[in-house]
Amino acid sequence: MTTMRAARLHTPGAALQIDDVPRPVPAPGDVLVEVHACGVVPNMNAVFSGKYWHQLPPFPAAVGLDAAGVVVECGSGVTEFRPGDRVYVNPWLSCGACYYCRTESPLSCTSAAFAGYFGFFETSRELLLRYPYGGLSEFVTAATHRLVRLPDAVSFDHAARMGYIGTSYSALKAGGVGPGSRVGLLGVTGTLGVAATLLALGMGASTILGIGRNREVLEQVANLSAERVETTTLDSGPLDEWLRDRTGGLGVDVAIDCSGRGTEPEVNEALVRGLKRGGKCVYIGAQTSPIAIEPTRFVMDRLSFSGSMWFSDAEAHDLIAMAAAGALDLSTITTHAFPLEEVNDALEAVASKLGGFTNVVVHPRRRELALD
Ligand SMILES: [Zn+2]
Repeated sequence: MTTMRAARLHTPGAALQIDDVPRPVPAPGDVLVEVHACGVVPNMNAVFSGKYWHQLPPFPAAVGLDAAGVVVECGSGVTEFRPGDRVYVNPWLSCGACYYCRTESPLSCTSAAFAGYFGFFETSRELLLRYPYGGLSEFVTAATHRLVRLPDAVSFDHAARMGYIGTSYSALKAGGVGPGSRVGLLGVTGTLGVAATLLALGMGASTILGIGRNREVLEQVANLSAERVETTTLDSGPLDEWLRDRTGGLGVDVAIDCSGRGTEPEVNEALVRGLKRGGKCVYIGAQTSPIAIEPTRFVMDRLSFSGSMWFSDAEAHDLIAMAAAGALDLSTITTHAFPLEEVNDALEAVASKLGGFTNVVVHPRRRELALD
C-alpha cells in the first residue's frame, strides 16, 4: 500500500497531527492531484474548534480547503485532463442529484460540503466520505468538474487563495459591478475585503470606498490606486454620510459587506443607507446579529439586500483568467509558506489578524519537491 502524509483533526479544538494514511486512488471520472499549496484562512481555527459547524468530517479527518497542484493520475473515463496539468481544486462538493443541483445551482445543493472542511447538512456526510482528503494532504482526489486549469502565470500560492477571492468576485458580480461603478466595501482590510478591492479595480470600478479598523492595512488598500480607492475608519463619522459625500451626494451603486461576527448592527445599517437609489448591498461576512432595514425605503428607492456564498465553476474560471491576464493584480499579496510539519504554526499565524494582504499557505510536498 502506498501511503502519504496528511494533517488530521482527531478531536475538535485539538492541534492537527501529521499522520501516514493510504494514498487515495482516483475513482472513475476523478483525478489524483499532488498538492503544491493549500490556503490557510482565518475561519479555519473556528471551524476546527467544532463550535460553529457541527458537520465536521468523520474523525480523524484529513482537513484543508483550497488546494492547488498537479494532476498525477487520472481515473478511467477522464479525457479532459492528463498527468502534468496544473490545477486549482475547488473544494465545493455537491450531489448533482437533488432538486437544486438539477434545476438551479450546485451552490444550493441540499447535501453541500467543503471537502476536508465541513458539511452544511446531515446529508453532507456521504460526500465527505467520498472525498475524505482536504488540501492539507500530500494528495487529494477530485471530480474533474471541480478543476480549474492554472496557466503558468498563476502561481500555486495565489491559486490556493481562490476560495476567498472567488467569494468576493461572486458578490461583486451579484451587485453588478462593472465599468464606472461606485463601490462601498465594509471590512475592507480583511481577506475578503482586500480581494474585493483588487477585483473591483480589475472590473473597472471608478470609485472604491473602503471602511475598516486597521489603519495600517487601510493605508495599504488606499495605496492600491490613488485615483480610485479611498479608505476611512469606522470611528471617523457617520458612514452613510461619508459614502454620499464621496459620490457627489448620490451614494454607492453597490455595497459589499464583509463585516465579521461582533460588528455593531448600526454599522451594517449605515452601509445600506449609503446606497444610491437602485443600489444593491451584498452580504458575505459573518454577522449573526439582526440588522434593521426600512422596507418602504427599499420600495421607494428600489434597493436590494442579498447574501452570497462561494462562487460558481464559471466564476472560478473567470478569476483564473483575470489573474493570468493581470486584470486581477495579485502582486501586492505576500505569501507566508509553511511545510506540512508546521501546519499548526500556519493556523496560529493566520489567527493573529495579519490582514488581507497576507496569504498563509502550506506546501504539503515541500520535502519531496524542493518547493521554495
Ligand atoms: Zn445537490
